[in-house]
Amino acid sequence: MKKHNFSAGPCILPDSVMQQAAAAVQELDNSGLSLIEISHRSPAFIEIMERACQLTLELLDLEGKGYKALFLQGGASTQFLATAYNLLDKKAAYLNTGTWSTKAIKEAKLVGEVVEVASSADANFNYIPKGFDVPSDADYLHITTNNTIFGTQIKNLPQTDSVLVSDSSSDIFSRQLDFSKFGIVYAGAQKNMGPAGTTLVVVKESVLGKVSHKIPSMLDYANHASKDSMFNTPPVFAVYTSMLNLQWLKDLGGIKEIEKRNEAKAALMYGEIDRNPLFKGFAAVEDRSTMNATFTLEQESLKDRFGAMSADAGLNGINGHRSVGGYRASMYNALPIESVQVLVDVMKELERTA
Ligand SMILES: *Cc1c(COP(=O)(O)O)cnc(C)c1O
Repeated sequence: MKKHNFSAGPCILPDSVMQQAAAAVQELDNSGLSLIEISHRSPAFIEIMERACQLTLELLDLEGKGYKALFLQGGASTQFLATAYNLLDKKAAYLNTGTWSTKAIKEAKLVGEVVEVASSADANFNYIPKGFDVPSDADYLHITTNNTIFGTQIKNLPQTDSVLVSDSSSDIFSRQLDFSKFGIVYAGAQKNMGPAGTTLVVVKESVLGKVSHKIPSMLDYANHASKDSMFNTPPVFAVYTSMLNLQWLKDLGGIKEIEKRNEAKAALMYGEIDRNPLFKGFAAVEDRSTMNATFTLEQESLKDRFGAMSADAGLNGINGHRSVGGYRASMYNALPIESVQVLVDVMKELERTA
């Protein structure tokens, strides 16, 4: 039986994408060769890379606006350092909303001065700080749009004249935002875009080239942009499968349509968390993530029963991250609402039989 996959990442992908990706590993489009054995310089792969970049800009409504989409390696974790290398000349501002922001800050400090403009560490990151000031001389403001571990999400982008840089690993392509407000948006593929192995970096070309230090080639976005993400061998399988998933999203109606579905899933999930007296939401209500719902069981003694019932119902990946405990239901784009309904039904059944 196929499980209901609530994994926080690597995440669920649409069945049709999985089938096409599997077929291409056997043979890519009647070419007599596997996707993973062709040259990345072959016309077939160059077309795949171009299509992935084009779909990215189209879905984010950034076509013709001076942006470049890059498919790189090293995960979002490498971009913590790379973003600082590319933009941090004197001083950078960071909003600290969780584990990933904290890691981004640590890496940026290797490059230059970092000002933490606000932090929700005082409450184990269960909310998004608002109304903070960004130093006027900051080279950029770095935010994490969705905090995968704590289940919080920035609903309104901060008003700032600084270049806005975002780690959007776990909510890219999930909701409509004015992406032209960003200088750089980056995302590890494995949360909401594709399999692990590639990292999307969408960069406004005009924000680059302003730092006085040298940038190592593999971290240099201008270098990757000038080579169309082919400076070195790209992760062909991850790029191809991400491209298929972006095509799936486009065919479905794009971000506008998936946002509606994601909101419906989140409403169903949080509705039950709030209604059911056995459960309690972790994140501040106004900052709740539509992607990762974090919650706890009020009575420890029901833990084993809930675990057994969840396993029987085919629910996978709902255990919370160790820094929050409890449960986390990750509801990425490809998760159908039917899976959320199964989880909600198990929560209701636990209440009924407790
Ligand atoms: C998972 C995650 C990361 C780390 O991504 P890697 O690709 O594993 O380096 C960074 N930021 C956020 C918001 C994440 O969810």
